[in-house]
Amino acid sequence: MIIHNARLRGHDGLHRITLNGARIAAIEAQHALHPIAEGDLDAAGNLVVPPFVEPHIHLDATLTAGEPNWNMSGTLFEGIERWAERKALVTHEDTKTRAKKTIDMLVDHGIQHVRTHVDVTDPTLAALKAMLEVREETRHLIDLQIVAFPQEGIESYANGRALMEQAIELGADVVGGIPHFENTRDQGVSSIKFLMDLAERTGCLVDVHCDETDDPQSRFLEVLAEEARVRGMGARVTASHTTAMGSYDNAYCSKLFRLLKMSGISFISCPTESIHLQGRFDTYPKRRGLTRVAEIDRAGMNVCFGQDSIVDPWYPLGNGNILRILEAGLHICHMLGYEDLKRSLDLITDNSARALNLGEGYGLEVGRPANLLILSAPDDYEMVRSQGHALVSVRHGKVLMRRTPASIERA
Ligand SMILES: [Zn+2]
Repeated sequence: MIIHNARLRGHDGLHRITLNGARIAAIEAQHALHPIAEGDLDAAGNLVVPPFVEPHIHLDATLTAGEPNWNMSGTLFEGIERWAERKALVTHEDTKTRAKKTIDMLVDHGIQHVRTHVDVTDPTLAALKAMLEVREETRHLIDLQIVAFPQEGIESYANGRALMEQAIELGADVVGGIPHFENTRDQGVSSIKFLMDLAERTGCLVDVHCDETDDPQSRFLEVLAEEARVRGMGARVTASHTTAMGSYDNAYCSKLFRLLKMSGISFISCPTESIHLQGRFDTYPKRRGLTRVAEIDRAGMNVCFGQDSIVDPWYPLGNGNILRILEAGLHICHMLGYEDLKRSLDLITDNSARALNLGEGYGLEVGRPANLLILSAPDDYEMVRSQGHALVSVRHGKVLMRRTPASIERA
């Protein structure tokens, strides 16, 4: 298969991309128009990019909002109450059906790489067992990383440590954590040491729900970063949310940034979820409840955007479209300056791939997997401005999804 008339980010002119089976065989500058053969694709001067990445989602909770009751206040705390009601009704098949429906929604929007957190604070590890099956059954659609996520804590939950170890043994790819939710600060610190030990011993990646609160005293990020630095594991460690950073004072943050840079860890922000759930103890002025996305980026560190929830007790909206999260995030994080806009797709492609350690399994380069998207616009700015879409998604050298844009007739 050949993709003609492709515009590539960071390159002038049009290009022709030749796929050979499941690999990219050639990428060449295109000097003249070539006839497009049957089975080839015409990018028509629009961007061709590697697939979008969903770096932070909870596939075990999606599509449950309103079952049996809606979250009326919209708060995190009522979300936990509503989830407890729904959790009582969860079955193996129910988890698999909802996860697969959600994966279809992600695929429809050009996502081919997903990292999902799965709650392992359950003595039966039922959701994890269901998601391990989903990972195998959806390999033709996405590459799925499963995080062993201790929703109710590692130290604060009965047998929390053993459940984490079991989850990794069963086949979870990534070690998770939630230090700010542990009962005490000491437990938060020891949970991080435990989970970093576990990751180091097993070779797993790390992705911690870290300081997801407006409490400026929640300072587990420094502990995670220091553990990553000392162990030389930074490239394999991600801090999700870190919303407390939006409430840290600048003096502390300037010291913290020195450590964060040395540690080499990545950051994931879920801007729509955080703007919705945080700031709830404020009247006015009201905080945005997000981490310092622009500042992390300006400091040369790796940061990307995720959806977190789709139609669950914590967040009632969402449709799988990561471009919607990008647009909202750019607004919320004060990133509509032209320098940010013209490279904004980094936040849902290359930066996310780096956080997920996709390495040579990702990117438009000869020899890499023949996974790519044809978008509806010629550059990053126009994609965001026009609220564009992924029009074609190619995976393993074959068309996985094709979208026909809406057409408008004027009188
Ligand atoms: Zn999350």
